[in-house]
Amino acid sequence: MPDRWIPLTKPYYGPEEEAAILEVLRTGNVGGDGAQCKAAEAYMRERFGVKHALLTTSCTHAMELALMACGIGPGDEVILPSFTFTSTANVIVRQGAKPVFAEIEEATFNLDPADIEHRISPRTRVIMPVHYAGIGCRMNEIMDLARRYGLLVIEDAAQGVGAKYNGQWLGAIGTAGCYSFHVTKNVTCGEGGALLTNDDQLAERAEIIREKGTNRSQFLRGQVDKYTWVDWGSSFVLSDLLAAVLLQQLRKMDEINAKRRAIWEYYYHRLEELALEGQIILPTLDPLAESNWHIFAIRTDLARRDKVLAALRARGIGATFHYIPLHSSPYGRRMWGYTAEDLPITGRVSASLIRLPIYPDLTLQEQEYIIDSLYEIYAGI
Ligand SMILES: *Cc1c(COP(=O)(O)O)cnc(C)c1O
Repeated sequence: MPDRWIPLTKPYYGPEEEAAILEVLRTGNVGGDGAQCKAAEAYMRERFGVKHALLTTSCTHAMELALMACGIGPGDEVILPSFTFTSTANVIVRQGAKPVFAEIEEATFNLDPADIEHRISPRTRVIMPVHYAGIGCRMNEIMDLARRYGLLVIEDAAQGVGAKYNGQWLGAIGTAGCYSFHVTKNVTCGEGGALLTNDDQLAERAEIIREKGTNRSQFLRGQVDKYTWVDWGSSFVLSDLLAAVLLQQLRKMDEINAKRRAIWEYYYHRLEELALEGQIILPTLDPLAESNWHIFAIRTDLARRDKVLAALRARGIGATFHYIPLHSSPYGRRMWGYTAEDLPITGRVSASLIRLPIYPDLTLQEQEYIIDSLYEIYAGI
Protein backbone atom coordinates (compact mmCIF):
# COMPACT_ATOMS: atom_id res chain seq x y z
CA MET A 1 0.00 0.00 0.00
CA PRO A 2 1.45 3.41 -0.94
CA ASP A 3 1.89 5.82 1.98
CA ARG A 4 -0.67 8.24 0.62
CA TRP A 5 -3.96 7.41 -0.97
CA ILE A 6 -6.18 9.68 -3.06
CA PRO A 7 -9.67 8.16 -2.89
CA LEU A 8 -12.00 7.99 -5.86
CA THR A 9 -14.59 10.05 -4.06
CA LYS A 10 -15.17 11.77 -0.72
CA PRO A 11 -18.19 13.54 0.78
CA TYR A 12 -18.10 17.32 1.23
CA TYR A 13 -19.16 18.00 4.82
CA GLY A 14 -18.73 21.01 7.09
CA PRO A 15 -20.03 22.57 10.31
CA GLU A 16 -23.54 22.91 8.81
CA GLU A 17 -24.07 19.15 8.63
CA GLU A 18 -22.56 18.65 12.11
CA ALA A 19 -24.83 21.26 13.68
CA ALA A 20 -27.91 19.94 11.89
CA ILE A 21 -27.47 16.32 12.97
CA LEU A 22 -26.63 17.29 16.55
CA GLU A 23 -29.74 19.40 16.81
CA VAL A 24 -31.99 16.53 15.72
CA LEU A 25 -30.17 14.13 18.03
CA ARG A 26 -30.79 16.44 20.99
CA THR A 27 -34.52 16.78 20.28
CA GLY A 28 -34.88 13.01 20.22
CA ASN A 29 -37.09 13.23 17.13
CA VAL A 30 -34.91 10.84 15.16
CA GLY A 31 -37.67 8.78 13.56
CA GLY A 32 -38.67 8.92 9.92
CA ASP A 33 -40.96 11.26 7.95
CA GLY A 34 -40.63 14.00 10.58
CA ALA A 35 -39.90 17.72 10.33
CA GLN A 36 -36.47 17.24 8.72
CA CYS A 37 -37.80 14.87 6.07
CA LYS A 38 -40.66 17.27 5.37
CA ALA A 39 -38.24 20.17 4.98
CA ALA A 40 -35.92 18.25 2.66
CA GLU A 41 -38.87 17.04 0.56
CA ALA A 42 -40.29 20.57 0.31
CA TYR A 43 -36.86 21.82 -0.74
CA MET A 44 -36.66 19.18 -3.50
CA ARG A 45 -40.19 19.90 -4.76
CA GLU A 46 -39.37 23.57 -5.02
CA ARG A 47 -35.88 23.15 -6.45
CA PHE A 48 -36.64 20.45 -9.00
CA GLY A 49 -40.12 21.68 -9.87
CA VAL A 50 -42.01 18.45 -9.09
CA LYS A 51 -45.32 17.91 -7.30
CA HIS A 52 -44.09 15.06 -5.11
CA ALA A 53 -40.73 14.12 -3.59
CA LEU A 54 -40.60 11.14 -1.22
CA LEU A 55 -37.43 10.46 0.69
CA THR A 56 -36.38 6.82 0.96
CA THR A 57 -33.59 4.81 2.53
CA SER A 58 -31.78 4.48 -0.83
CA CYS A 59 -32.14 4.92 -4.57
CA THR A 60 -32.53 1.16 -4.83
CA HIS A 61 -35.56 1.42 -2.55
CA ALA A 62 -36.90 4.46 -4.44
CA MET A 63 -36.82 2.44 -7.68
CA GLU A 64 -38.37 -0.57 -5.98
CA LEU A 65 -41.06 1.69 -4.56
CA ALA A 66 -41.74 3.19 -7.99
CA LEU A 67 -42.17 -0.24 -9.61
CA MET A 68 -44.36 -1.42 -6.71
CA ALA A 69 -46.55 1.68 -6.92
CA CYS A 70 -46.90 1.20 -10.69
CA GLY A 71 -48.00 -2.41 -10.18
CA ILE A 72 -45.17 -3.96 -12.19
CA GLY A 73 -45.09 -7.74 -11.73
CA PRO A 74 -44.79 -11.19 -13.29
CA GLY A 75 -45.24 -11.19 -17.06
CA ASP A 76 -44.04 -7.60 -17.41
CA GLU A 77 -40.83 -6.56 -19.13
CA VAL A 78 -38.70 -3.57 -18.26
CA ILE A 79 -36.03 -2.20 -20.60
CA LEU A 80 -32.78 -0.94 -19.05
CA PRO A 81 -29.09 -0.75 -19.92
CA SER A 82 -26.75 -3.60 -19.04
CA PHE A 83 -24.10 -0.96 -18.33
CA THR A 84 -25.39 0.00 -14.88
CA PHE A 85 -25.25 -0.83 -11.19
CA THR A 86 -27.00 -4.05 -10.14
CA SER A 87 -29.78 -2.09 -8.38
CA THR A 88 -31.47 -1.04 -11.61
CA ALA A 89 -31.96 -4.70 -12.54
CA ASN A 90 -32.52 -6.07 -9.03
CA VAL A 91 -35.60 -3.95 -8.43
CA ILE A 92 -37.17 -5.40 -11.58
CA VAL A 93 -36.33 -8.98 -10.62
CA ARG A 94 -37.68 -8.40 -7.08
CA GLN A 95 -41.08 -7.59 -8.61
CA GLY A 96 -41.06 -10.84 -10.56
CA ALA A 97 -40.74 -8.90 -13.83
CA LYS A 98 -38.13 -9.50 -16.54
CA PRO A 99 -35.22 -7.14 -17.20
CA VAL A 100 -34.54 -6.67 -20.90
CA PHE A 101 -31.09 -5.22 -21.52
CA ALA A 102 -30.61 -2.66 -24.28
CA GLU A 103 -27.43 -1.32 -25.85
CA ILE A 104 -25.75 1.98 -24.99
CA GLU A 105 -24.20 4.61 -27.24
CA GLU A 106 -20.44 4.52 -27.49
CA ALA A 107 -20.05 8.27 -26.89
CA THR A 108 -22.12 8.82 -23.73
CA PHE A 109 -22.56 5.26 -22.34
CA ASN A 110 -26.28 6.04 -22.15
CA LEU A 111 -29.18 4.02 -23.61
CA ASP A 112 -29.51 4.10 -27.39
CA PRO A 113 -33.16 5.02 -28.18
CA ALA A 114 -33.09 3.03 -31.45
CA ASP A 115 -32.04 -0.11 -29.60
CA ILE A 116 -34.74 0.45 -26.96
CA GLU A 117 -37.38 0.51 -29.71
CA HIS A 118 -35.94 -2.67 -31.17
CA ARG A 119 -36.49 -4.46 -27.83
CA ILE A 120 -40.06 -3.32 -27.14
CA SER A 121 -42.50 -6.28 -27.05
CA PRO A 122 -46.22 -6.57 -26.20
CA ARG A 123 -45.09 -7.29 -22.60
CA THR A 124 -42.98 -4.15 -22.19
CA ARG A 125 -44.34 -1.83 -19.51
CA VAL A 126 -41.45 0.39 -18.44
CA ILE A 127 -38.24 1.97 -19.75
CA MET A 128 -35.61 2.65 -17.09
CA PRO A 129 -32.98 5.06 -18.43
CA VAL A 130 -29.80 5.42 -16.36
CA HIS A 131 -28.18 8.86 -16.58
CA TYR A 132 -24.56 7.78 -16.52
CA ALA A 133 -22.14 10.18 -14.79
CA GLY A 134 -24.89 12.78 -14.43
CA ILE A 135 -25.13 13.19 -18.19
CA GLY A 136 -28.76 12.92 -19.25
CA CYS A 137 -29.96 10.20 -21.61
CA ARG A 138 -31.70 11.32 -24.80
CA MET A 139 -34.91 11.96 -22.94
CA ASN A 140 -36.75 13.64 -25.83
CA GLU A 141 -36.55 10.45 -27.88
CA ILE A 142 -37.16 8.18 -24.89
CA MET A 143 -40.28 10.09 -23.80
CA ASP A 144 -41.49 10.03 -27.38
CA LEU A 145 -41.07 6.24 -27.54
CA ALA A 146 -42.93 5.91 -24.24
CA ARG A 147 -45.86 7.95 -25.59
CA ARG A 148 -45.98 6.01 -28.85
CA TYR A 149 -45.95 2.59 -27.18
CA GLY A 150 -47.88 3.52 -24.00
CA LEU A 151 -44.96 2.83 -21.62
CA LEU A 152 -43.94 4.27 -18.26
CA VAL A 153 -40.51 5.87 -17.80
CA ILE A 154 -38.77 5.47 -14.44
CA GLU A 155 -35.46 7.32 -14.44
CA ASP A 156 -32.53 5.89 -12.55
CA ALA A 157 -31.20 9.35 -11.76
CA ALA A 158 -29.00 7.99 -8.93
CA GLN A 159 -26.04 9.91 -10.37
CA GLY A 160 -28.09 12.78 -11.79
CA VAL A 161 -28.94 15.06 -8.86
CA GLY A 162 -28.55 18.66 -10.00
CA ALA A 163 -28.09 17.83 -13.70
CA LYS A 164 -30.45 18.70 -16.54
CA TYR A 165 -31.47 17.52 -19.98
CA ASN A 166 -32.90 20.02 -22.42
CA GLY A 167 -33.48 22.43 -19.51
CA GLN A 168 -35.33 19.89 -17.31
CA TRP A 169 -33.94 18.40 -14.11
CA LEU A 170 -32.99 14.74 -14.40
CA GLY A 171 -35.39 12.68 -12.33
CA ALA A 172 -38.22 15.10 -13.05
CA ILE A 173 -38.77 14.17 -16.71
CA GLY A 174 -40.23 10.64 -16.68
CA THR A 175 -43.28 9.16 -14.95
CA ALA A 176 -41.04 8.97 -11.87
CA GLY A 177 -37.39 9.61 -11.11
CA CYS A 178 -35.10 8.18 -8.44
CA TYR A 179 -32.15 9.89 -6.73
CA SER A 180 -29.34 8.45 -4.64
CA PHE A 181 -27.75 10.18 -1.66
CA HIS A 182 -25.25 7.37 -1.09
CA VAL A 183 -21.81 8.32 0.25
CA THR A 184 -20.32 8.11 -3.27
CA LYS A 185 -22.78 10.56 -4.84
CA ASN A 186 -22.50 14.37 -5.22
CA VAL A 187 -25.12 15.18 -2.59
CA THR A 188 -25.01 12.67 0.25
CA CYS A 189 -26.33 11.78 3.69
CA GLY A 190 -24.49 8.45 3.80
CA GLU A 191 -27.38 6.30 2.66
CA GLY A 192 -30.59 7.73 1.22
CA GLY A 193 -32.71 8.23 -1.84
CA ALA A 194 -35.79 9.93 -3.19
CA LEU A 195 -38.69 9.24 -5.50
CA LEU A 196 -39.87 12.21 -7.58
CA THR A 197 -43.11 12.31 -9.54
CA ASN A 198 -45.82 14.62 -10.82
CA ASP A 199 -48.38 11.80 -10.73
CA ASP A 200 -50.73 12.22 -7.73
CA GLN A 201 -51.99 8.62 -7.75
CA LEU A 202 -48.51 7.17 -7.96
CA ALA A 203 -47.35 9.40 -5.10
CA GLU A 204 -50.31 8.48 -2.92
CA ARG A 205 -49.75 4.74 -3.40
CA ALA A 206 -45.97 5.12 -2.93
CA GLU A 207 -46.48 6.98 0.34
CA ILE A 208 -48.54 4.07 1.69
CA ILE A 209 -46.11 1.41 0.50
CA ARG A 210 -43.18 3.35 1.98
CA GLU A 211 -44.91 3.38 5.39
CA LYS A 212 -45.54 -0.40 5.79
CA GLY A 213 -48.84 -0.32 3.91
CA THR A 214 -50.41 2.20 6.27
CA ASN A 215 -51.85 5.68 5.81
CA ARG A 216 -49.59 7.07 8.55
CA SER A 217 -48.38 9.89 6.30
CA GLN A 218 -51.94 11.10 5.78
CA PHE A 219 -52.45 10.82 9.55
CA LEU A 220 -49.35 12.97 10.24
CA ARG A 221 -50.78 15.63 7.91
CA GLY A 222 -54.11 15.51 9.79
CA GLN A 223 -55.98 14.10 6.78
CA VAL A 224 -57.27 11.06 8.71
CA ASP A 225 -57.75 10.78 12.48
CA LYS A 226 -56.12 7.40 12.98
CA TYR A 227 -53.91 5.30 10.83
CA THR A 228 -54.28 1.68 9.78
CA TRP A 229 -53.30 -0.98 7.28
CA VAL A 230 -54.71 0.05 3.89
CA ASP A 231 -52.50 -1.77 1.33
CA TRP A 232 -49.42 -3.98 1.18
CA GLY A 233 -46.14 -2.26 1.74
CA SER A 234 -42.64 -2.22 3.10
CA SER A 235 -40.41 0.11 5.11
CA PHE A 236 -38.57 2.73 3.08
CA VAL A 237 -38.78 5.85 5.29
CA LEU A 238 -35.58 7.84 5.91
CA SER A 239 -34.61 8.83 9.46
CA ASP A 240 -34.79 12.53 10.32
CA LEU A 241 -31.12 12.34 11.42
CA LEU A 242 -30.11 11.67 7.83
CA ALA A 243 -32.70 14.03 6.35
CA ALA A 244 -31.16 16.86 8.42
CA VAL A 245 -27.76 16.17 6.83
CA LEU A 246 -29.36 15.85 3.42
CA LEU A 247 -31.08 19.23 3.65
CA GLN A 248 -27.74 20.93 4.31
CA GLN A 249 -26.21 19.05 1.37
CA LEU A 250 -29.05 20.03 -0.97
CA ARG A 251 -28.46 23.66 -0.03
CA LYS A 252 -24.80 23.22 -1.01
CA MET A 253 -25.58 21.41 -4.24
CA ASP A 254 -24.56 24.26 -6.55
CA GLU A 255 -21.33 24.80 -4.64
CA ILE A 256 -20.51 21.07 -4.71
CA ASN A 257 -21.24 20.73 -8.42
CA ALA A 258 -19.29 23.89 -9.30
CA LYS A 259 -16.21 22.57 -7.50
CA ARG A 260 -16.54 19.25 -9.29
CA ARG A 261 -16.93 21.05 -12.59
CA ALA A 262 -13.63 22.90 -12.14
CA ILE A 263 -11.88 19.57 -11.49
CA TRP A 264 -13.59 17.87 -14.42
CA GLU A 265 -12.64 20.67 -16.80
CA TYR A 266 -9.04 20.74 -15.58
CA TYR A 267 -8.66 17.00 -16.22
CA TYR A 268 -10.15 17.46 -19.67
CA HIS A 269 -7.85 20.35 -20.55
CA ARG A 270 -4.66 18.73 -19.24
CA LEU A 271 -5.37 15.32 -20.75
CA GLU A 272 -6.11 16.61 -24.24
CA GLU A 273 -2.54 15.97 -25.35
CA LEU A 274 -2.70 12.35 -24.22
CA ALA A 275 -5.91 12.02 -26.22
CA LEU A 276 -4.26 13.60 -29.27
CA GLU A 277 -1.47 11.04 -28.98
CA GLY A 278 -4.20 8.41 -29.29
CA GLN A 279 -3.54 6.93 -25.85
CA ILE A 280 -6.92 7.72 -24.31
CA ILE A 281 -10.42 8.84 -25.28
CA LEU A 282 -11.83 11.79 -23.34
CA PRO A 283 -15.49 11.90 -22.27
CA THR A 284 -18.10 13.32 -24.66
CA LEU A 285 -20.74 15.76 -23.53
CA ASP A 286 -24.15 15.81 -25.23
CA PRO A 287 -24.90 19.50 -25.95
CA LEU A 288 -28.43 19.05 -24.55
CA ALA A 289 -27.13 17.53 -21.31
CA GLU A 290 -26.07 19.87 -18.50
CA SER A 291 -23.85 17.67 -16.35
CA ASN A 292 -23.41 17.65 -12.57
CA TRP A 293 -19.84 16.41 -13.11
CA HIS A 294 -20.39 13.25 -11.09
CA ILE A 295 -17.76 11.07 -12.81
CA PHE A 296 -14.63 11.70 -14.86
CA ALA A 297 -14.12 8.59 -16.98
CA ILE A 298 -11.63 8.10 -19.78
CA ARG A 299 -11.23 5.12 -22.08
CA THR A 300 -8.10 3.34 -23.21
CA ASP A 301 -7.25 0.29 -25.28
CA LEU A 302 -8.43 -3.02 -23.85
CA ALA A 303 -4.95 -4.54 -23.76
CA ARG A 304 -3.53 -1.88 -21.43
CA ARG A 305 -6.50 -0.86 -19.30
CA ASP A 306 -5.81 -3.16 -16.36
CA LYS A 307 -2.10 -2.31 -16.40
CA VAL A 308 -2.83 1.42 -16.32
CA LEU A 309 -5.28 0.93 -13.45
CA ALA A 310 -2.77 -1.14 -11.49
CA ALA A 311 -0.02 1.44 -12.07
CA LEU A 312 -2.28 4.29 -10.89
CA ARG A 313 -3.25 2.36 -7.77
CA ALA A 314 0.38 1.51 -7.04
CA ARG A 315 0.97 5.27 -6.96
CA GLY A 316 -1.80 5.74 -4.38
CA ILE A 317 -4.47 6.90 -6.82
CA GLY A 318 -7.91 5.38 -6.24
CA ALA A 319 -8.74 5.00 -9.93
CA THR A 320 -11.21 2.26 -10.77
CA PHE A 321 -13.56 0.92 -13.45
CA HIS A 322 -17.17 -0.23 -13.68
CA TYR A 323 -19.63 -1.78 -14.54
CA ILE A 324 -19.24 -5.46 -15.25
CA PRO A 325 -22.08 -5.75 -17.78
CA LEU A 326 -25.18 -7.19 -16.12
CA HIS A 327 -26.31 -9.23 -19.12
CA SER A 328 -23.13 -11.32 -19.18
CA SER A 329 -22.65 -11.48 -15.38
CA PRO A 330 -23.07 -14.92 -13.78
CA TYR A 331 -26.68 -14.08 -12.84
CA GLY A 332 -27.51 -12.59 -16.25
CA ARG A 333 -26.20 -15.65 -18.09
CA ARG A 334 -27.88 -18.12 -15.77
CA MET A 335 -31.28 -16.43 -15.65
CA TRP A 336 -31.79 -15.23 -19.21
CA GLY A 337 -29.09 -16.99 -21.23
CA TYR A 338 -27.25 -13.89 -22.40
CA THR A 339 -23.69 -14.14 -23.70
CA ALA A 340 -20.99 -11.46 -23.63
CA GLU A 341 -21.39 -10.93 -27.39
CA ASP A 342 -25.04 -9.90 -27.08
CA LEU A 343 -24.28 -6.24 -26.33
CA PRO A 344 -20.87 -5.54 -27.89
CA ILE A 345 -20.70 -1.78 -27.21
CA THR A 346 -21.49 -2.37 -23.54
CA GLY A 347 -18.72 -4.96 -23.36
CA ARG A 348 -16.22 -2.69 -25.07
CA VAL A 349 -16.98 0.35 -22.91
CA SER A 350 -16.80 -1.68 -19.72
CA ALA A 351 -13.43 -3.22 -20.66
CA SER A 352 -11.81 0.08 -21.61
CA LEU A 353 -13.03 2.46 -18.90
CA ILE A 354 -10.94 4.21 -16.23
CA ARG A 355 -12.48 6.49 -13.59
CA LEU A 356 -10.29 9.11 -11.98
CA PRO A 357 -10.77 10.64 -8.50
CA ILE A 358 -13.20 13.57 -8.46
CA TYR A 359 -14.63 15.30 -5.36
CA PRO A 360 -14.82 18.93 -4.15
CA ASP A 361 -11.82 18.72 -1.79
CA LEU A 362 -9.43 17.21 -4.34
CA THR A 363 -6.54 19.68 -4.37
CA LEU A 364 -4.85 21.07 -7.46
CA GLN A 365 -1.62 19.48 -6.28
CA GLU A 366 -3.28 16.06 -6.05
CA GLN A 367 -4.84 16.53 -9.44
CA GLU A 368 -1.48 17.46 -10.98
CA TYR A 369 -0.01 14.33 -9.43
CA ILE A 370 -2.75 12.18 -11.00
CA ILE A 371 -2.30 13.80 -14.41
CA ASP A 372 1.52 13.58 -14.33
CA SER A 373 1.22 9.94 -13.28
CA LEU A 374 -0.97 9.20 -16.29
CA TYR A 375 1.56 10.79 -18.69
CA GLU A 376 4.39 8.84 -17.06
CA ILE A 377 2.51 5.56 -17.12
CA TYR A 378 1.62 5.93 -20.80
CA ALA A 379 5.20 6.87 -21.65
CA GLY A 380 6.39 3.64 -20.05
CA ILE A 381 4.00 0.94 -21.29
C1 LIG B 1 -25.50 4.54 -6.81
C2 LIG B 1 -26.40 3.97 -7.83
C3 LIG B 1 -27.55 3.25 -7.50
C4 LIG B 1 -27.87 2.81 -6.07
O1 LIG B 1 -28.07 3.85 -5.20
P1 LIG B 1 -28.31 3.51 -3.64
O2 LIG B 1 -28.78 4.81 -3.08
O3 LIG B 1 -27.01 3.06 -3.10
O4 LIG B 1 -29.35 2.46 -3.58
C5 LIG B 1 -28.40 2.82 -8.49
N1 LIG B 1 -28.14 3.09 -9.78
C6 LIG B 1 -27.03 3.77 -10.16
C7 LIG B 1 -26.80 4.04 -11.60
C8 LIG B 1 -26.12 4.21 -9.19
O5 LIG B 1 -25.03 4.87 -9.58
